[in-house]
Amino acid sequence: MKNQIALALTFAIGMAHMTVAADKGDPKATEQWEPVPRSVTPGATAGAPPSDAVVLFDGKNLDEWLSTNDRTPARWKVHDGIVTVDKSAGNIETRRQFRNYQLHLEYQIPQDITGEGQARGNSGLFLASTGNGDAGYEIQILDSYKNSTYVNGQAASVYKQSPPLVNACREPGAWQTYDIVWEAPVFEADGRLSSPAFVTVIHNGVLVQNHTRLSGETVFIGKPQYKPYQRAAIKLQAHGDPSAPISFRNIWVREL
Ligand code: MG
Repeated sequence: MKNQIALALTFAIGMAHMTVAADKGDPKATEQWEPVPRSVTPGATAGAPPSDAVVLFDGKNLDEWLSTNDRTPARWKVHDGIVTVDKSAGNIETRRQFRNYQLHLEYQIPQDITGEGQARGNSGLFLASTGNGDAGYEIQILDSYKNSTYVNGQAASVYKQSPPLVNACREPGAWQTYDIVWEAPVFEADGRLSSPAFVTVIHNGVLVQNHTRLSGETVFIGKPQYKPYQRAAIKLQAHGDPSAPISFRNIWVREL
């Protein structure tokens, strides 16, 4: 029996060698030379915009942003190279519209944040703003450092759809990063969905949404549903909870 197994093994190994030996094709046949990827100069430091990014906020002004509801220039407060949410001024969104993209954004929950659950540093990043108010697809921003809430509503969740894989929040007062890849939903000419949206989110360097499939736009009550759109602004949320407003800095996007 042992001998038979040894014989079979020897035969199998021999066959494997023959297969390798027989593979005498031209290695160049599997080389691809065209098209040459265009060159992009990476940001000089981690998180800095690469050369082909559209800078949405660099600490100087909100020229790239509008108030969502009335399309007037955004009125949040820019100071010290950052912008702080003005809850009375409502959501703001980009003048430009996007489809598929890579986004970098940094936010800071105030060190002395108060409140609990959803009422503690709540804001949000809408990957596509599809109307006034909170219409669109929201990645939650919230102080979830030591603050429990429903898990598909904690920081880095696809709000009311998908909890983050892990909780990678830093403590209040620290700057935190989102690096996101957004694949917009695709619609047929008649408005039917042909491909859902997908999102990948890296929170503070940690993968928290891994090509997550969305089931539609974010809704507070009820089931998400898709509504056809082609290109959309990126929106930041002025949430109505009474806790102190959060701040943002260094926001850029690369259309894909
Ligand atoms: Mg929110």
